[in-house]
Amino acid sequence: MDYTHDPDAFRLMPKEPSFENALAFAGELISIPGLPGEEGEVASRLKEEMEVLGLSDVRIDDTGNVIGVVAGRGGAPPAMLNCHLDVVAEGDHSEWEVPPFSGEVRDGFLHGRGSMDIKGPLALQTYAAASMIGKAPGDVIVAHTVLEERGGLGMKRLLESGTVDPGVVIIGEATHGDVCIGHRGRAELEVVLTGLAGHASAPDRARNALDLLGDVLSAVRELGENQEADPVLGRASLIATTVDVLPESRNVIPDKVVLALDWRILPSDDDDSLLNRVRHSIERRIPSLQEGLAYEVRMARELQTTYTGIQEQRSLLTPGFLMDSEHPVVTSAASAVGRRGDDAGAAVRPWLFATDGGWSCGIHGIPTIGFAPGEEGFAHTNRERLNVEEARWGYARYPHLIAAVQRAAAN
Ligand SMILES: [Zn+2]
Repeated sequence: MDYTHDPDAFRLMPKEPSFENALAFAGELISIPGLPGEEGEVASRLKEEMEVLGLSDVRIDDTGNVIGVVAGRGGAPPAMLNCHLDVVAEGDHSEWEVPPFSGEVRDGFLHGRGSMDIKGPLALQTYAAASMIGKAPGDVIVAHTVLEERGGLGMKRLLESGTVDPGVVIIGEATHGDVCIGHRGRAELEVVLTGLAGHASAPDRARNALDLLGDVLSAVRELGENQEADPVLGRASLIATTVDVLPESRNVIPDKVVLALDWRILPSDDDDSLLNRVRHSIERRIPSLQEGLAYEVRMARELQTTYTGIQEQRSLLTPGFLMDSEHPVVTSAASAVGRRGDDAGAAVRPWLFATDGGWSCGIHGIPTIGFAPGEEGFAHTNRERLNVEEARWGYARYPHLIAAVQRAAAN
């Protein structure tokens, strides 16, 4: 059959799961912008590619995540491969050496927003899974999710939906070829100070909410200096970042002050434990409040909307996680991946940034590791790029990695 005059028919031709085709597909995805909440076009292009590659049960769920399955040949637990569909804003185009949506390969690098975080690895994972149709020890679920850059609503809803049941998860965030086993999480809290507004010329009739700020900041600093440390992930860190004063007027005594706290948390932390620690620290500083003044400690919340129209008011907590470095999934992953250019096993370490693994492992307890080419220092910058030779190596390691973690998860 001659497809040359019918581009649609050409698209539906089966595609060979090769590295070159994966790289070309990554370039195509880079050319489609898709900020968090605007991933629709990327999702439909990916769904089409999964179908062409021969994945089964290809679908877009109500949240907008794209899911497909590679049927395995045996009964090992399903492995889920995960990247995200969204990218962060590209900023000023003139600051980029190579245009952000070119997806161009130049000087040995794939360039552009998402080349490394995360459309390059997404294409590699998807193609590597396709190369294992009928060969993997168990089914391979390829699930790429929305809104990761805003805390992971896509992954959260996917796992809560119960429509996937992975025995092990591989996250495609940049590891530069190492095996990553966790990271700190992040929480955003607010301390709301309230008083009674009044004109600055008549302070007797008002209660200045700012009067509480000094003690509250001291309490936060004291708590920040006493954070727990994890031997692998390091110390949690807490810091006050912004102050909003309302009404915002220089001749009005404010009745509301909102102090925001950024907390890089350990995997054992949750909303309640964080809130209680801030409350106790403030209570120690301010044992009794002056009449008319009050404070409240709460999780910061944000209303998020997916491109499919689902809305969720979510508390801004992205969980952390940490796998035991001796866990069979970790040790088998490290030896399956190996080290580029020598015989040793891959280095095992945490990431410095948060991923959707906080949901899969931190909340749902599913063994989760990360493996992908790419230097994390390029993420979210206007120099974002992916080394093509490193990507080629990572692509070749993926089938070994998938088989190894499936076998390890089976035991
Ligand atoms: Zn990412």
